[in-house]
Amino acid sequence: MAAEDRLRTYRGKRDFERTREPSGQAAREDGDRPRFVVQIHDARRMHFDFRLQVGDVLRSWSIPKGPSTDPGDKRLAVPTEDHPLDYENFEGVIPKGEYGGGTVIVWDHGTYEPASHDRRGRPVDFAESLERGHATFRLNGTKLHGEYALTRFRGSDGEDAWLLVRKGAARSDGHGTPDPRRARSVRSGRTLAQVAAADGEE
Ligand code: MN
Repeated sequence: MAAEDRLRTYRGKRDFERTREPSGQAAREDGDRPRFVVQIHDARRMHFDFRLQVGDVLRSWSIPKGPSTDPGDKRLAVPTEDHPLDYENFEGVIPKGEYGGGTVIVWDHGTYEPASHDRRGRPVDFAESLERGHATFRLNGTKLHGEYALTRFRGSDGEDAWLLVRKGAARSDGHGTPDPRRARSVRSGRTLAQVAAADGEE
């Protein structure tokens, strides 16, 4: 599907006269490696938005507790609409009353290496592995490093949901999860409160 079609849901939810979120018009240079971004979004409910570049869009999941670096943690990841590639750089305040109203910071970003394999160990196309409901990848971020897996399951409400899990041996250092109110942007070094104070006054 072309990005224009894939972004219809994203655009339909937003009024770009009111929000400074990108409308997704800008094309992006194709790097060697696909990109990922994790944003913290202080909306009606605080959550993390986890986005992986797949082709010309960012596939997106809302993760209430955020990604954990502890392989013992399974993190619920609720799929959301595809976002434009330049959303990776969005940090600021979405006006109250608009879709997703609240403050966003870029908590982490970087590249990832697709690492999906079939049962016999043969590489599987990454987009196809997502279609099949199980994708593995290595994150090369500023904060997040290492291999993670996204696995789809049928939630109790009958809707598809996913689990994001760090691969590897379990840890017990207690540093698996960031505190969203104290976390700082990898772009600006600011906290949610600092971004809200600066951007909310404009
Ligand atoms: Mn969000």
